[in-house]
Amino acid sequence: MPPEPMTPPFLFIPGPTPVPDHILSAMAQPSIGHRTPEFSHLWQDITGRLESMLGAKRVFLFSNPATGVWEAVIRNSVVKGALNLVNGAFSGKWHQTAEACGVMCEAITKPWGQAFHPEDIEGALSTGKFDTVTLVHNETSTGVASPIEPIAELIQRKYPDVLLHVDAVSSMAAVEIRADDWGLASCFASLQKAWSLPPGFTVCTVSDKLLDRSASMSAKGYYFDMHVYDTYYQKQQTPSTPSLPHMYGLQAVLSDIAAEGLDARYGRHLAMAGTVRQWATRRGQSLYAEPGCESVTLTAIRNDAGWDVQALYEALEKEGYRMDRGYGKLRGEVFRIAHMGAVTPHQVETYLATIDRLVAA
Ligand SMILES: *Cc1c(COP(=O)(O)O)cnc(C)c1O
Repeated sequence: MPPEPMTPPFLFIPGPTPVPDHILSAMAQPSIGHRTPEFSHLWQDITGRLESMLGAKRVFLFSNPATGVWEAVIRNSVVKGALNLVNGAFSGKWHQTAEACGVMCEAITKPWGQAFHPEDIEGALSTGKFDTVTLVHNETSTGVASPIEPIAELIQRKYPDVLLHVDAVSSMAAVEIRADDWGLASCFASLQKAWSLPPGFTVCTVSDKLLDRSASMSAKGYYFDMHVYDTYYQKQQTPSTPSLPHMYGLQAVLSDIAAEGLDARYGRHLAMAGTVRQWATRRGQSLYAEPGCESVTLTAIRNDAGWDVQALYEALEKEGYRMDRGYGKLRGEVFRIAHMGAVTPHQVETYLATIDRLVAA
């Protein structure tokens, strides 16, 4: 007997996020050959719109999760050493990825809940040991956003040979990114967070400096060789057969974004973040993030009010919601509410009202 069909709960977890029905439908289209004019047409539409949205000369399309791009940027960037900025679970895993690639790397570790600022890295950069820095913009495990611009400004001004790579997995498409203006070597995001697409695909801005560095390097492997990517980029193609459904979905999301308007989209995310932060503090909870560095796409809430998070999780599931109970070691102590992508302020308010009702019950 096959199991009973299950309606999956609506996701209020910080990834994956719900995919709207019309986007799911847009993904279901006939395959096309990836060495054909019709493919290059699709490629160009997506790539051109991404480049303009992210302020980047060049965007590569990867048919793999962002974890793969962590590895790609390390393999194409580190000759001397990588300085990995670690303030949570994802930045920690990126550091592990660098170690696993066998490059020289060191982590600067800050307590969970804190952000990185230029003064945290200045000393390490002045040693001259590093030619690469990795920064997770929005630490999804802790709900902390480290300001990109001041860190990028320091590196551009004083250490122009250092390549700064930014994981914007849970913030891209919700906050403004000007990759070339800020001098980012790369800035990337998989699509299952603020893009509201299914997991398994990553978009990545790539600077001239990164391509130059990559050209000087060997033993990069093949799949993640940025130089190979660039050769195909020139032909408006990808090196290997890409995930066409993701490309169709991304094309549809980019049209939604154009219809909403970028400023309106970024404003909607700020408004939803404001709603959730205010709601939490009014209920005797506090925010886990360093003040002033709270994420715009998710809120990590310290459970000061002592709610039974496991009971709430189970009750919310009966209401058709998937709640987050906190990442890893924070489970139960700090829980997170996502407010990113296609979710509307009304849906967020309804979710919060449901939590209020269940907590009071
Ligand atoms: C979710 C997440 C990742 C991992 O993305 P995958 O696409 O699953 O590899 C990396 N970094 C951050 C900040 C994330 O939130």
